[in-house]
Amino acid sequence: MSLSPLRDFVTALGRLLDERPPEPRILDEGGALLARLVARDDWLPDWLAVPDPARYQQFLLHADSTERFSVVSFVWGPGQATPVHDHTVWGLIGMLRGAEYSQPYTLDTQGRPHESGPPVRLEPGQVEHVSPTVGDVHRVRNAYDDRVSISIHVYGANIGGVHRHTYPPEGPPKAFVSGYSNTALPNLWDRSRP
Ligand code: FE
Repeated sequence: MSLSPLRDFVTALGRLLDERPPEPRILDEGGALLARLVARDDWLPDWLAVPDPARYQQFLLHADSTERFSVVSFVWGPGQATPVHDHTVWGLIGMLRGAEYSQPYTLDTQGRPHESGPPVRLEPGQVEHVSPTVGDVHRVRNAYDDRVSISIHVYGANIGGVHRHTYPPEGPPKAFVSGYSNTALPNLWDRSRP
């Protein structure tokens, strides 16, 4: 197993963000970089792909040194789902293994969520995006009730520390900070490894 695909992604996204591109370019070109990363499933360390029977896992893979972006592996146990939630920053979701459904929502004046259109099914290699400008509220779930699914998420901030919201069906919105599931990071910078 080689971490070089992840290292190359981190480096390329950092170079893109160095140019301070507008959000559409981040979603477009950053999305293309992420599509390349999830086109192969041979680089995610096994210990960052472990499901938990109680809840979905969010393993930090990399946080940019100035918190311009973060990269997370989302590991879904069978049948697991998020609450309806927002992000407050741009986000890219690339499917690595299995499949997931993302159901978009709009909010009414009381902050209650209402389904907006059909769910989007992501298959391995596919990428979708979220942001306050293109649609930021959704609920995501494992498409499978009998197997693990994994997607790689990239956000325009250190997402584990961002103050954001979940949206219960009867409102009002609830503040939350997601944090991370792991206590150690993959060592991208050990050049003695492939
Ligand atoms: Fe999300």
